[in-house]
Amino acid sequence: MSGTAQLSFVPLDAWLPLYHNFLVVAGPCSVENREQLETTAKGLAQLKMVPVLRAGVWKPRSRPGHFEGIGAAALPWLQEIKNETGQQVAVEVAQPGHAELCLKHDIDILWLGARTSVNPFMVAEIAEAIKGTGIAVMIKNPVSPDLQLWIGAIERICKAGTNKIIAVHRGFHGYHKSRYRNIPLWNLPLTLKKELPGIPVICDPSHIAGNRKWVEEVAEKAIALNMDGLMIESHYKPDQALTDPLQQITPEELHGLLNNLLAPRQKEEPDRMLEKIRTLIDDKDHELLELLAERMRLVEEVGIIKNEIKTSILQPDRKNEIAADRKEKGISLGLKPGFVDKLLTLLHQESVLIQQRLQKNTNK
Ligand code: PEP
Ligand code: MN
Repeated sequence: MSGTAQLSFVPLDAWLPLYHNFLVVAGPCSVENREQLETTAKGLAQLKMVPVLRAGVWKPRSRPGHFEGIGAAALPWLQEIKNETGQQVAVEVAQPGHAELCLKHDIDILWLGARTSVNPFMVAEIAEAIKGTGIAVMIKNPVSPDLQLWIGAIERICKAGTNKIIAVHRGFHGYHKSRYRNIPLWNLPLTLKKELPGIPVICDPSHIAGNRKWVEEVAEKAIALNMDGLMIESHYKPDQALTDPLQQITPEELHGLLNNLLAPRQKEEPDRMLEKIRTLIDDKDHELLELLAERMRLVEEVGIIKNEIKTSILQPDRKNEIAADRKEKGISLGLKPGFVDKLLTLLHQESVLIQQRLQKNTNK
């Protein structure tokens, strides 16, 4: 890490009751009304695995005209609920005013969303608002895959005098089509752990998956990668949720998910390592395929232009230039020359086929 003093973080078990040494934060994407909040919170409290209730009060929406949260009116409800269930309550703050209101209402944990941690000015303003209070803060990764920005947000909040910090990995915006709402890029939270020793990092599979179908598989990977916990959106009637209805699960479903995933946690170390490395390989394969698809789209664009200017598809000079350049690059990265050759031949053959198909179709 460049030029910053070592930060210190309070271990999770020193301030939160953990379940098998693992933190589960759960609750609705947003508070919608008193009944929804209370029923969901009680359902979660009954599981005795969820010491922290999350609930969005101010909701950052991409477009206006959608439900933007109940606002400050929900804070007294959260106060009452925490007194009833004994859970700690966590609320997203996106402005200093939000933080001030949460402090007044005895909210235990604040969290910075992905659209806030991306903005150093806003993080600094929120840090100023909580200065000296020592309140716990969860800091989601910024929407863009920028590790320094994430670290910067953590540093700014730590400087405000709190060391009860939890980093939350919620995935990153990607412009490629993917089955998930946000791409996980597991390497980033793992690097964060190396850069900031001792920082608790939990995963938010709900916002990575974007659909309840994939929440468990993302959570499973997070556990294989030794994350310190999960933040999962839960609603007593997910389909009727006013925000993120597709990805929320009921408290009962959360119970099933935790039982499935936390019981086999005691696996042997080599098994866990294998799972961990395979997860990273899966990630890389997906990235490779996305890049290949993008390359082939560019090949198609070149094909269209070649057609227009009526030039030949096969251009030996260009082919030799590419072969020499890629071979040198591949070898410098430690790849075997024979493997680079085979890969280049395959890529070239496929590119030619794409352009030939295009030519046939336009000349029909
Ligand atoms: C949320 O937790 O409901 C939320 C808005 O998350 P994110 O900031 O990760 O998009
Ligand atoms: Mn949400």
